[in-house]
Amino acid sequence: MAAPVPPIDRERSAARIERDIETLAGPEFTVSSEAIRRYAYTPVYRNTLDYFTRALQELGFTVTEDPVGTLIARNRPPGEPVFGVGSHCDSNRNGGRYDGTMGVVTALEVCRLSAEHSLDLPLQLISFLEEEGSGFGQMLLGSRIMLQRVTEQELRESFRAIDDGRSFWEHAEEAGYEPARWQESIHALDDLTGWIEMHIEQARVLQDTGNRIGLVHTIAGYVHADVLVTGRGDHAGATPMDLRLDPTTVLAECVLELERLARATGQGTVGTVGEIEVDPGIINAIAAGVRFSLDIRGPVDDAYRGVADEIAAFAERAAAARGMTAQFRQRQTLPATPLDERIVDALDAAAAATGEPYMRMHSGAAHDTMCVADRVPSAMVFVPCVDGISHHPAEDADSADAALAAEIILGAIAALQG
Ligand SMILES: [Zn+2]
Repeated sequence: MAAPVPPIDRERSAARIERDIETLAGPEFTVSSEAIRRYAYTPVYRNTLDYFTRALQELGFTVTEDPVGTLIARNRPPGEPVFGVGSHCDSNRNGGRYDGTMGVVTALEVCRLSAEHSLDLPLQLISFLEEEGSGFGQMLLGSRIMLQRVTEQELRESFRAIDDGRSFWEHAEEAGYEPARWQESIHALDDLTGWIEMHIEQARVLQDTGNRIGLVHTIAGYVHADVLVTGRGDHAGATPMDLRLDPTTVLAECVLELERLARATGQGTVGTVGEIEVDPGIINAIAAGVRFSLDIRGPVDDAYRGVADEIAAFAERAAAARGMTAQFRQRQTLPATPLDERIVDALDAAAAATGEPYMRMHSGAAHDTMCVADRVPSAMVFVPCVDGISHHPAEDADSADAALAAEIILGAIAALQG
């Protein structure tokens, strides 16, 4: 069934999206001239919220901010059902123009299209605070606050600004917010009947498969852990090869075994050793110990968790075989987030109606939608980014793809209302 939406002028949408993206890359909206760098409670972040506020007010939306600064705009009074669209407009410290911001800009375009085609869909736009963690080192902070996945102690004490070490609480108050009311943030979700976040893909699957749109059915879960291998520090020249307890050999075996396990497991499972710490880390010393991190993710909980269990056991065996010990320590784990079938199906129908190439996929990266989906039926739409590059000034995406995403999101919401 075709979505009940009149023909959309995609070129006009693309031009408006391009204009918003260009504007928000200007000097008023980024701390750095080399990259997009904006984060909570900086003047450039304030300017960005003001930009969206003005644009949404022009469309007749009422714009508010939650007690810590997540932007919420709606075209219906409180208590009436609305459909949510949005993303985040903060950036990585060395970020590009598109991560997050393109999602909010596209959500704004959905609001524009709904108004100018007299669809008058009930909409609520959200731009989440601090998704990237550039201000306080805490990813998904705004949506975690909203979903009560933080503690008051963390907000008052533990979460500290990267720039000056002062607390999140102090910074929020100084910016005119009321962090003491943080638990009220959740009410932003009270009237939501659904939620769709558009985001750049941050990988090269869409580009390599020639698809312009990705419909996300699951956001990957993950295990974050460390392996500590204890060997014996010795002189690199004086110690013969058969008298060594060198923990870097176990590291090497584990890196290759992780690759083998993730490949063999399949189902979207990925595994990465991102941090390696060698003690003492000197050219002419055999290491006494090694620590390496594990980031193991995937859309299927049993699959990636199985890899985590197997690599933990492998590390112990590999160390023992060489007369050493290895210890696996989990830091954090979060299950995969299945998105809402009904919304994904509505997006699928709307995408099919455009005649453009699209695919269903999972998201390997984390997004605010992981939090929203706890309470509200949710989905995500991806657009390609050139060569998968993100979190870098070279990040690039096409406004024409975002315009197509806006049309699909609009069609899906219209169909879901009907
Ligand atoms: Zn993002």
